[in-house]
Amino acid sequence: MPIKCAGAPQKAMYLACDHWLRTQRLDNIDVEFCNAGPGLFGVADYVPALMEYVKKYNIALQFQHTLTAIDGPGKTATFSVTDGEGESREIEKAFEMIHVCPPQKAPKFISNSPLADAAGWLDLDPETLQHNHYGNIFGLGDAGNTPNAKTAAAVRKQAPVVAENVLLALKGEAPRAIYAGYGSCPLTVEKGKIVLAEFGYGGKLQPTFPTWLVQGTRPSRLSWLLKEKMLPWIYWNAMLKGKEWLAEPEILSHRPTKHEASDALDK
Ligand SMILES: Cc1cc2nc3c(=O)[nH]c(=O)nc-3n(C[C@H](O)[C@H](O)[C@H](O)COP(=O)(O)OP(=O)(O)OC[C@H]3O[C@@H](n4cnc5c(N)ncnc54)[C@H](O)[C@@H]3O)c2cc1C
Repeated sequence: MPIKCAGAPQKAMYLACDHWLRTQRLDNIDVEFCNAGPGLFGVADYVPALMEYVKKYNIALQFQHTLTAIDGPGKTATFSVTDGEGESREIEKAFEMIHVCPPQKAPKFISNSPLADAAGWLDLDPETLQHNHYGNIFGLGDAGNTPNAKTAAAVRKQAPVVAENVLLALKGEAPRAIYAGYGSCPLTVEKGKIVLAEFGYGGKLQPTFPTWLVQGTRPSRLSWLLKEKMLPWIYWNAMLKGKEWLAEPEILSHRPTKHEASDALDK
């Protein structure tokens, strides 16, 4: 941690297990998911569906396991494991194949610049995506410090917010277009089925489609079709051409400045 889309490491694992199950090899393979974080997925609504697959594939879950070193030729991985009392110790695990998600960080030209926060990310207002110190700078994407799931789906919703707010700034007005933290993680739990996690700040569910059509918290064939067949078309023909009708941002008639907001709190 931190990593892009928290589902990304799991997608490869579930698809591999599905293949091994279909080819009658899974019984001879021990699969372990070692996660630096404390749980399977940050948004509780999606955990039951994922746990069904963890059980189906007989995956051993290991939390608070931070990978610190890999000995490739010796096929050994070293983890720093933190227990319930917060004590850490090193353990080694032998592997035959390991799939690793390296920790994510902003590029050096951002982290070494005055634009970065203490952790090295572009320092942005989470709603307007305006820089917290430089009003003529806006940011979006993985390099920002906004606490959303770092996904291309998030960029898709952030881009129109930045566009609207830049236009307002050029007119000398305060930014009023709002990003609510949308991100999406299509979890490929088996070939042909996806758990389509869509959520915003604070883990609030933000489904694009009505639940009678797609129930995001359950594995769905329609979600797989959406990702495989529809999203590439939407990406190339709508999103990149700025014609995306489902990504329109909320624009407030008035957004209190930080000063006004703290005055209101004091009262
Ligand atoms: C395995 C995996 C699966 C994923 N699955 C999904 C998914 O299913 N759905 C989803 O929505 N998202 C998914 N994501 C996340 C998604 O890929 C990212 O959130 C998205 O690409 C972020 O876009 P970005 O433009 O902010 O950053 P990037 O795509 O990382 O683009 C940054 C660009 O800047 C370039 N760059 C860096 N330094 C410099 C420099 N000094 N000068 C010039 N250029 C530079 C880099 O080469 C790169 O091209 C996944 C990510 C991973 C790793």
